[in-house]
Amino acid sequence: MNPPAFPDNVRAVVIGGGVIGCSVAYHLTKLGWRDVVLLEQGRLTCGTTWHAAGLVGQLRAHQNMTRLVQYSASLYQKLEAETGQATGWKQCGSVLVARTPERVTLFKRIASAARAQGVACEIISIEEAARKYPTMRTDDLAGALWLPDDAKVNPADVTQALAKGARMGGARIFEQTRVTTIHQKNGAATGVATTRGDIAAEVVINCAGQWAKQIGRLAGVTVPLHSAEHMYIVTGRIDGVHPNLPVLRDPDGYIYVKEEVGGLLMGGFEPVAKPWAMDGIPENFEFGMLPDDWDQFQILMENALIRLPCLETAEIKTFMNGPESFTPDNNFIMGEAPECKNFFVAAGFNSIGIASGGGAGRALAEWIVQGEPSLDLWPVDIRRFARFHDNDRFLKERVSEVLGLHYMMPWPNRELQSARPLRRSPLYDRLAAQNALFGSKMGWERPNFFAPSKTDARIDYSWGKQNWFPYVAAEHKATRDAVTVTDLTSFAKFLVQGRDAESALQRLCANDVAVPVGNTVYTGLLNARGTYESDLTVARLGSDRFLLVTGTAQATRDADWIGRHLGDHRAKLTDVTSAYAVIAVMGPRARELLARLTRAPLGNGAFAFGAIREIGIGYATVLASRRTYVGELGWELYVPAEYAGGVYDALMEAGADLGARNAGYYAVESLRLEKGYRAWGRELTPDYNPYEAGLAFAVNLGKGDFLGRDALLAARGKPPARRLLSFVAPTPDTPIAHGGELILRNGDPVGEVTSAAYGHTVGGIVALGYAATGGARVDDAWLAARFEIDIAGERVKVAAGLKAPYDPAGAKLKG
Ligand SMILES: Cc1cc2nc3c(=O)[nH]c(=O)nc-3n(C[C@H](O)[C@H](O)[C@H](O)COP(=O)(O)OP(=O)(O)OC[C@H]3O[C@@H](n4cnc5c(N)ncnc54)[C@H](O)[C@@H]3O)c2cc1C
Repeated sequence: MNPPAFPDNVRAVVIGGGVIGCSVAYHLTKLGWRDVVLLEQGRLTCGTTWHAAGLVGQLRAHQNMTRLVQYSASLYQKLEAETGQATGWKQCGSVLVARTPERVTLFKRIASAARAQGVACEIISIEEAARKYPTMRTDDLAGALWLPDDAKVNPADVTQALAKGARMGGARIFEQTRVTTIHQKNGAATGVATTRGDIAAEVVINCAGQWAKQIGRLAGVTVPLHSAEHMYIVTGRIDGVHPNLPVLRDPDGYIYVKEEVGGLLMGGFEPVAKPWAMDGIPENFEFGMLPDDWDQFQILMENALIRLPCLETAEIKTFMNGPESFTPDNNFIMGEAPECKNFFVAAGFNSIGIASGGGAGRALAEWIVQGEPSLDLWPVDIRRFARFHDNDRFLKERVSEVLGLHYMMPWPNRELQSARPLRRSPLYDRLAAQNALFGSKMGWERPNFFAPSKTDARIDYSWGKQNWFPYVAAEHKATRDAVTVTDLTSFAKFLVQGRDAESALQRLCANDVAVPVGNTVYTGLLNARGTYESDLTVARLGSDRFLLVTGTAQATRDADWIGRHLGDHRAKLTDVTSAYAVIAVMGPRARELLARLTRAPLGNGAFAFGAIREIGIGYATVLASRRTYVGELGWELYVPAEYAGGVYDALMEAGADLGARNAGYYAVESLRLEKGYRAWGRELTPDYNPYEAGLAFAVNLGKGDFLGRDALLAARGKPPARRLLSFVAPTPDTPIAHGGELILRNGDPVGEVTSAAYGHTVGGIVALGYAATGGARVDDAWLAARFEIDIAGERVKVAAGLKAPYDPAGAKLKG
């Protein structure tokens, strides 16, 4: 058969012939796009894919990420029948072993999450683990976990099968063809230049693996990833090792092990990784390997010898050192680039590209064809990053830490340490001097809590109450009883200005934002399915000027969503995040405190809830917005950055005798959950609509058309399939929930906890989570059923309710 002619105009160009590019091409053809071209600079699989170990572990931290792998698994099983190309699929299951009691607790939490996510998983005895994996040493183990559906594949064969399937669907694949330029016009990709000529395209898709950063840079697009060396060895045949042996993972020893041709393939994720290619990836790195590095591998080898004494005498046939790309948060990168329309990315797979490849390829293909993803992909959405993430030094230092996260204990509140401090509020030094313990979000250093001394400003990680518990209790109490000051500077802030600002925002927002100047409105931004793209506060500062305040993590995503939907409206969006510090003054004595520093009237009449006004605070003029996220009287002060220090000092000085003190984000989390306030990314995502989320009050169907209105009209009045509930376990000594726990109703799994904390006012766990309703109306009778949350295998009885566990009048949900 003659090779296909090189085209000059196609619908979609896929860059990269690894597992991801081939999967995207395959799924585009399945969705009816036949005019697809895949370009590979070398030969298919020659980047990272060819040397992957081929483990397909199904359970992920986020439900939708698990769904992607579950889909990969179902696809890889049937690809051979469809294409005639074998994939090496073998469902061998996997055994995870724990060396410590803390890891056993994690396994119990994993087993609970697996039930919530529909993945087969069970805690097994050490004896059972030994039966499943006879060559393993077990006398030092504390526990084990069994995932029967986990599997292994041959990565190169899977990729060839996807490529064959793509060709069968009409796609054309050109090897030895390098993309050298991304053509753009009016902020959109229009095609590529290659070593064989130009191709015009409606859509360009960057699936270039570790090269994706430099391909991104060709288009001015941030694809923050960095290569790191990743190593394994393969032994000769070992007695007792056979193809049906499960995959073995010993995360406390950082290692994984899989059968390979009668021997063992052993690799792992060492705690301090070795970044590679600081000066860029060498030319022609086709089927490339890096030199053996036994020093770097030593920690894995030592641990493998503990677990598998048979390795002592085994012949080492191969030392494989191949680079893989890692991202700043160990999640991959997908979606349409916010900087360039029609330019999509799927890259940075952090060593799970084979397992995720099928699902990720389908999800991106859907995103391309339908214009949006069909499920919430926020954990991997390219818009969780910003321009600063593209910094090479930042990336190099961060990936040194990230690779090890695979097997590191995923402690609650775990903070990454590398490449910090990065973005600092004007109050940073003041707060640090008062023993703030900072956490990092979107690069911002944010105070989590304030400790009594420098040495106490740390987190002692554990599953139970951590060392900071009493400090946060005091901050929480001070907010409920007196007044606290919190640095919320990291909020993303946008100005939307222009003649059509009001009509543009009315089209974007589900609530009515055509309010008089000086008012704020809480609203969702919905997509056509009527589910959440964002939730934020819109403040009207002038007839044609609005300030939008949104979550720290959403800055890029919201700017992208809003910018895209301004359409032909004469309105401009400007990111003013760095221009303003935000200082929240919250608690019943907040008015008294502010009154000492301003002549502006602050009473309910002159300064009602939801109002926003310019007021003087000391020498500074600030925007004061009467809203809080904690369910108390309070104001958020939007302070031009250069005045922030002075305003903060004035507040602390004037509030000393009122009990004013600092509070951090952990206190805010506990306070907001008592009040039942929802958070973007957890309770509010593209998987949920306002009726399911219990936020119908923030929707105005009568104001005229807006994005998502038709879907809401269709959903209105029908009992939602799942409903967000507040849960309370009002006993102080229950185990601590952290989110992700299984929710049971009358003993049956109905959902997963989305957020949880200890509520210091109600004196127990407070949580939010969606429960499947089975079409029932959620009324008192339905809620009176027996609700439990499975916390690491312990079923904790909880009260479930539609109302917040705490309201300012002091009423508490009864347990
Ligand atoms: C040692 C090791 C073990 C691993 N084990 C596992 C495992 O057990 N399970 C698992 O799920 N994952 C595993 N992985 C990870 C997995 O291999 C990767 O996540 C996956 O292969 C990434 O696929 P990709 O398509 O994104 O990248 P690649 O396979 O690197 O494909 C990208 C392609 O783009 C091409 N390209 C780049 N620039 C251009 C250009 N300008 N023009 C045209 N083409 C270009 C490259 O040549 C390359 O072929 C492992 C990785 C390593 C290193």
